[in-house]
Amino acid sequence: MEPHLGGQVAGTSGTGFVLGGAPLPLTVPTRIYVCGITPYDVTHLGHASTFVWADVLARVVRMTGTETEVTRNVTDVDDVLTRTAADRGRTYDEFGLRQEFWFDRAMSALHVRAPQHTPHARHHVRHVVALAAALLETDAAYERDGYVYFRGADVPASAGLDRGSALALSAEYGDDPDDERRDDPFDVPVWRPSGDGHPAWPSPWGPGRPGWHAECAAMAMATLGGVLDVLVGGADLAFPHHAYQVAMAGAATGAGPFARRQFRVGTVGLDGEKMAKSTGNLVLVQDLLEQTSGAALRMLLLDRPWAQAWDFRSGDIDLAAQRLEELYVAAGRKPGSAAAVAAVGDALLHDLDVPTAVNHAIDAGGDAARLAIRTLALQ
Ligand code: ZN
Repeated sequence: MEPHLGGQVAGTSGTGFVLGGAPLPLTVPTRIYVCGITPYDVTHLGHASTFVWADVLARVVRMTGTETEVTRNVTDVDDVLTRTAADRGRTYDEFGLRQEFWFDRAMSALHVRAPQHTPHARHHVRHVVALAAALLETDAAYERDGYVYFRGADVPASAGLDRGSALALSAEYGDDPDDERRDDPFDVPVWRPSGDGHPAWPSPWGPGRPGWHAECAAMAMATLGGVLDVLVGGADLAFPHHAYQVAMAGAATGAGPFARRQFRVGTVGLDGEKMAKSTGNLVLVQDLLEQTSGAALRMLLLDRPWAQAWDFRSGDIDLAAQRLEELYVAAGRKPGSAAAVAAVGDALLHDLDVPTAVNHAIDAGGDAARLAIRTLALQ
């Protein structure tokens, strides 16, 4: 279906949808790609925040009567995943599926609607091979020793980074800028040979596997086409992952820009440090769900500006549960005014301003509170 412009929301003042500080006219369907999990460990609050916000983005778009088409991928071709699986005596794919089961349970408990597309990297290898061929054909990539490298010298600037800070980030996120086969340290593999014991697929450049950024570019294009409306991920994916994904897809299609808007959810910290599997600095969703409801956890994640980094404190759970209770009590009051309903809708349309929407909903009660509960899936 060809995208066309969506309609206005009944019951709002008709100012349109604003995301990331600028109006985003909605196409139908609105195509949303969410960078998903690498399924090798349990789901922590930082992941949950990104995926709950992605869910709310889609729900607010649908509130306007505009259909959404959502893809959330599974990065199941990954060196750390394969190594972790091998350590536990399992193949990468079986291990990944087991982890994915726990992830899906956490998402269900958090009322995250299942996306229409859940592509797995191992099922999209042929799309990466096609992407590599397209990039070679347009001279956006070159072949060397079984690798296909994307020419990435301009990518740091496209992400607003100088080369020094970009180099540090590339190394931090598992790239190897010192690899001497490359013409430029910012060239990255679209295709590369697999290590011993790692999964490998045939390709015109020899057996191997996709590079990480190429996996997401290929899965996004295979499920949603050559242009996305919103590319979603945690703030830490801005560079290198999203920057390369956008650059590769744009170079392959020539259609640019690949993503009309980027939606990067603020990092969740614990004790002043980023929450990350690699450091063991984690709050696990399954532990929190033993203390409180999925709806209260959603409130905890959503009742703040989405782009802002924040630190988790255990007392915040009770505060979120209290705020949810106030909203429920408000929803039980008499119908309320159309103006209050419009104020809730407008706040959500204005850059997903959940705190303002919930304040209006609690003040006015009735239909305004019910709109907030329904749209934010807080029931
Ligand atoms: Zn991705």
